[in-house]
Amino acid sequence: MKIVIKIGTSTLAHEGGHLNIRRMEQFCKVVSDLKNAGHEILLVSSGAIGMGVGKLSLKARPTDIPTKQAAAAVGQCELMYTYDKLFSEYRHTVAQILVTGDDLNHEDRKQNFENTLSRLLELGVIPIINENDTVATHEIVIGDNDTLGAIVAVCSKADVLVILSDIDGLCTADPHKDPNAKLIPEVYEITPEIIALAGGKGSDLGTGGMATKLHAAQITTKDGTDTVILNGNDPTILYDLFDGKPVGTRFCAKGKQA
Ligand code: GLU
Repeated sequence: MKIVIKIGTSTLAHEGGHLNIRRMEQFCKVVSDLKNAGHEILLVSSGAIGMGVGKLSLKARPTDIPTKQAAAAVGQCELMYTYDKLFSEYRHTVAQILVTGDDLNHEDRKQNFENTLSRLLELGVIPIINENDTVATHEIVIGDNDTLGAIVAVCSKADVLVILSDIDGLCTADPHKDPNAKLIPEVYEITPEIIALAGGKGSDLGTGGMATKLHAAQITTKDGTDTVILNGNDPTILYDLFDGKPVGTRFCAKGKQA
């Protein structure tokens, strides 16, 4: 199976931006094992800005663009150094790819991106993709890595996009506020009612971004690829997913309806 896994800053780093070593070690171990089991894996990893904030000992996430971009430049190194080190322990090779929205709107550059992804997979490498935050400006920004994950899933013709989050999946209400909130295991159509559950665009419904995750699911399901939202707190949940156990919320691709 060809799998794109999107992992966010809150899964990779502690609140101050320093690396969550235990989580990242577990994550790289599980991904290495899934690869050993024969899956092709591509990662879309956030964390550049967050880890730059930690490494530069900034008091908070910067709001001005030059400092944000400087933090991303520092943090991206730290991020790739860590992935390289942890995946090497399991004899896997990683590659860094940084893109902007402009690259993906440009036919030739997009084609080169797709060619590189497919050659890296043929070479047995784990591509690790992030937005090129140091040059992305308002006009050319992709904006969030859930959307980038969906674009990578479509470009690489993946079988599934897995978005690791800090909640179990899409729920009937905000699980942080409502104890009766229930996990929705499968979604066959992203209706206005489902979008309303995410709190609408720009809302942070206890998660900091269900809206962008639904947007990502809309992109992949339209293109024939499922998206699954899972809680990344324990990365071994990925084993459960690929063992066919009912975990997270699966957005089923169009044409695969029950
Ligand atoms: N590209 C940003 C970073 O690496 C993250 C964007 C996102 O998480 O959506 O810090």
